[in-house]
Amino acid sequence: HDNSSLAKLLVVFTVSGGSLVAYSESKSCDGMNIVNPSEADSKKKKVVVLGTGWAGTSFMKNLKNSEYDVQVISPRNYFAFTPLLPSVTCGTVEARSIVEPIRKIVRKKHMDIHYWEAECLKIDAQNKKVYCQSNQDNNLNGKKDFVVEYDYLVIAIGARVNTFNTPGVEENCHFLKEVEDAQRIRRTVIDCFERASLPTLTDEERKRILQFVIVGGGPSGVEFAAELHDFVNEDIVKLYPNVKDLVKITLLEAGEHILNMFDKRITVFAEEKFRRDGIELKTGSMVVKVSDKEISAKERSGEISSMPYGMVLWSTGIGTRPVIMEFMKQIGQTNRRVLATDEWLRVEGCDSVYALGDCATINQRKVMEDISAIFSKADKDNSGTLTVKEFQEVIDDICQRYPQVELYLKNKQMGSIVDLLKEAKGDVAKESIELDIEELKKLFSQVDSQMKNLPATAQVAAQQGAYLANCFNCMEECEKNPEGPLRFRGEGRHRFRPFRYKHFGQFAPLGGEQTAAQLPGDWVSIGHSSQWLWYSVYASKQVSWRTRVLVVSDWTKRFIFGRDSSRI
Ligand code: FAD
Repeated sequence: HDNSSLAKLLVVFTVSGGSLVAYSESKSCDGMNIVNPSEADSKKKKVVVLGTGWAGTSFMKNLKNSEYDVQVISPRNYFAFTPLLPSVTCGTVEARSIVEPIRKIVRKKHMDIHYWEAECLKIDAQNKKVYCQSNQDNNLNGKKDFVVEYDYLVIAIGARVNTFNTPGVEENCHFLKEVEDAQRIRRTVIDCFERASLPTLTDEERKRILQFVIVGGGPSGVEFAAELHDFVNEDIVKLYPNVKDLVKITLLEAGEHILNMFDKRITVFAEEKFRRDGIELKTGSMVVKVSDKEISAKERSGEISSMPYGMVLWSTGIGTRPVIMEFMKQIGQTNRRVLATDEWLRVEGCDSVYALGDCATINQRKVMEDISAIFSKADKDNSGTLTVKEFQEVIDDICQRYPQVELYLKNKQMGSIVDLLKEAKGDVAKESIELDIEELKKLFSQVDSQMKNLPATAQVAAQQGAYLANCFNCMEECEKNPEGPLRFRGEGRHRFRPFRYKHFGQFAPLGGEQTAAQLPGDWVSIGHSSQWLWYSVYASKQVSWRTRVLVVSDWTKRFIFGRDSSRI
């Protein structure tokens, strides 16, 4: 340990994982409390995990090697199942049904895992320390700040909402990122109906209060619009008959279409369904300002139009947390949105620091190099051309290495390659048509920049957490007996196979018991049957049996009794 940190030694006993674990607390030269494992534990490598979201929790759940002393730091002492947050906004599911205390998850591990409820304020990669601050205000005798030392650091602190510095958004809009946000939205929605029902208001004022605006046509914005529409039509109509006809839901999207990361068929279906349901859809509408009563947007024509509102939900994507921005500056990764890692999730330019989930992206600089190498290998006679059949083999090879490419092909983001290959399949004449390799490579270079970024989803975060935990599980063993294909053992390379993302599909609930599902294998399903698939998948993906039972019982309660509209 730091020599300057031995001034004061005080042994604190922490009950964790069902056992009593000794922790010592010493002071560093700058007077900060340093949390260190006791002598017995100090032989173990110290792993510090920042964040208890999808990535951090998945890492913890999959870590099996008890040879580590793990300290988890997060201001949130629970894991939240974010895909069900939109359901919490209207009371379809209760907030407590989608969260699991992190201490319960830790206890089940029967390992040296300790949780501190605090926020990391600064990462000092040079000295292998993280500076933290408790978010408890009272009775800490000025000991809110402390320092934790690590041998390995796992950064999984997710992202924050991106307002694009639009004036008034921070002050006047709701966000949907955390459980508290969803609870706040639920209260505000009910508030709007109670306010609009008061006898003192004019119809004009009531209309303004019941104008709900959603900014952003991504999955979260669309799902909230659908939830709100269902809530109004299934429950509110009965409880607020005098104002029900004044409700208006408007969705503003800067692009040409909503759900643009989904298959075109889903986008078209969703847009038509929303129009049928009376949800106003304004595409090509870029919000430029939000005041306390009006929201202003720039239309396609360049004109600025303003609309009064009762509630606005801002759901336009994610931005970088300040601690990550500061860390990126420190390690020379400026002008980036998220931390760049290699394919083994190691932060570039840093020793023993890993980053996963929404706060990181794999910097696949070698994508085009890899793809070129696959083409060269297939071009056995160095003719600069490939037959359609050989090209199919190249595609299979690339898709295996970069599963995202499969998605681009399905979404026809790479021209008509799929049609060409489908047409030629089994037709000897067509299969032997020669294609120019340079022309084919151009198709891949178009999606190269997109291939570098995995989507910021729970699926990616959870898979990365599990992958990294598996690396840690066998780290020691691998050091003794290096494994993995030879090509990964070269200089600067890691001893594990690189992280590969497996895409299992995605859902977009559209309300009225209808969901759009886009599954691997070019399979798109929209309607009531997909809604049942959605129920089954989301029930099965719950982090514990407790939350699974709670979520299913909330769905059942909603079917029988409707949603609870009490404003508590
Ligand atoms: P998070 O899950 O956000 O976790 C970050 C953790 O870090 C939290 O515990 C936080 O408290 C903690 N933290 C923050 N700051 C600090 C700090 N300074 N120090 C220490 N800890 C810190 N994805 C899907 O795949 N499917 C879906 O259907 C889906 N639906 C979604 C719906 C909504 C409404 C939202 C908001 C997201 C949805 N996502 C979905 C995306 C998914 O939730 C994220 O991609 C995922 O949460 C990313 O995981 P993460 O671990 O990187 O970050």
